[in-house]
Amino acid sequence: MSTRLALLMPLGLALMGVSTANAQTPSADKRAVLAEVDRISSDINGMAMQLWNFSEIAMREQRSSAFLADILAKEGFSVRRGVAGMPTAFVAEFGSGKPVIAILAEYDALPGIGNAAVPKRLLREDSVTAGQGCGHNLFGAGSVGAAIALKRVMQARGLKGTLRLYGTPAEETLIGKTYMARDGVFNDLDATLEWHPNTHTAVGNTANQANNNFSVEFFGQPAHAAADPWNGRSALDAVELMAHAANQMREHVKPTARLHYVIPSGGEAPNVVPAYARIWFFVRDVDRQSVEDHYAWLLKIAEGSAMATRTTFKVTLTTGVYEYLFNRPLQEAMQKNLDLVGAPKWGETEQQFARDMQKVSGRTEKGMDGTVKPLAPSVQPVEGGSTDVADVSWINPTVGLEVATAGQDLPWHSWQAAASHGIPGASKAADVAAKVIAATGVDLLTNPQLLARAREEFQKQTAGKPYQSAIPAGQKPPVP
Ligand SMILES: [Zn+2]
Repeated sequence: MSTRLALLMPLGLALMGVSTANAQTPSADKRAVLAEVDRISSDINGMAMQLWNFSEIAMREQRSSAFLADILAKEGFSVRRGVAGMPTAFVAEFGSGKPVIAILAEYDALPGIGNAAVPKRLLREDSVTAGQGCGHNLFGAGSVGAAIALKRVMQARGLKGTLRLYGTPAEETLIGKTYMARDGVFNDLDATLEWHPNTHTAVGNTANQANNNFSVEFFGQPAHAAADPWNGRSALDAVELMAHAANQMREHVKPTARLHYVIPSGGEAPNVVPAYARIWFFVRDVDRQSVEDHYAWLLKIAEGSAMATRTTFKVTLTTGVYEYLFNRPLQEAMQKNLDLVGAPKWGETEQQFARDMQKVSGRTEKGMDGTVKPLAPSVQPVEGGSTDVADVSWINPTVGLEVATAGQDLPWHSWQAAASHGIPGASKAADVAAKVIAATGVDLLTNPQLLARAREEFQKQTAGKPYQSAIPAGQKPPVP
């Protein structure tokens, strides 16, 4: 190699967005796993499209979970179904011994936003009204693709360890992983890999919110609201007091707190004193402790509201999640693999679809983002929202990827996103995710120093404190 070339090459690679640190040729194991993903690309596409066709909502993903579990069983994974009391949760395992590496998969859809895979509002011909507005069809397909590719390379090249694919239902209601976490199914892991659809491509590095999802039921006494109201005790009065006090509390918590509620039940008729009413809250903040503090205050408010109205009350904490704990050594390892693989290579079909969708949505017609974002030096501030992946991140070192799956600036959890995730080209994102996850899996299986550094960072962040679920022990998951 001439001097001139030697000088130019790092610059050339830097211009392509590849840092010189990753300019080394990937290992034979890594090359093998990337080639394997290319080989199964049409299977990944098939899975993504099938999950999109199913579009089953939280806790009702019977066909989606069976579909993925069957594929993994056929591939030679041993599959446990009905994990943590949820019929649609499963764990597929291959290999044995240490390290134990996990890949997470999701598949649930969102109600009411189903749409044909076209760039305009159009109901599906099969009249499925739910939609993959969070792209979990791609999530499930990409993760299962990564697991299959990694398993084949482990087998072919003798990589030691245990690989698990967790089929985690009901992410949209923050139920799946939180109940699985409470029941200890992630306890023996050395590291966890996951990804999520987005409008850009980057290693996950944006903070999210801890959250408690709970409802308070009030029980009063019915009476004729005009003839003998003194015999009545209004559960609705208690709900109104609780809402009012919560809104006054809002002024005296840090601005990072988010408090939202609906009143699903507030009585049946004005001339009957409501004997039953229910208020349903989400309370969020930047960390678990703050949520616990706000929650304790809200429980006092419930008690006070019941006292003032001479009603009784019952609190149900349906689920609670942590904020995501980011693991720098794993983020850096994943970033190298992302730089190596690159963003999805969008063709004119996907770009045109995105531009059409942006046009009907009143957004600038920018198309798909085809770049890879660099890893920022520190965790980026909260944008708003929670994920149940966060609980896994407090049990073992966890890292995630975001891959563009829909046009830039399009609304999320929307019919636009649901439609975008149903076009065949969308699975290019699942291929990228499968490659980056499988390549990072190779790192974890072959580089004990990386695992040790990840564990050290995790110990430092958690101060060795064991994970404690927010969900009461023994409470059953809300299986419909
Ligand atoms: Zn999601």
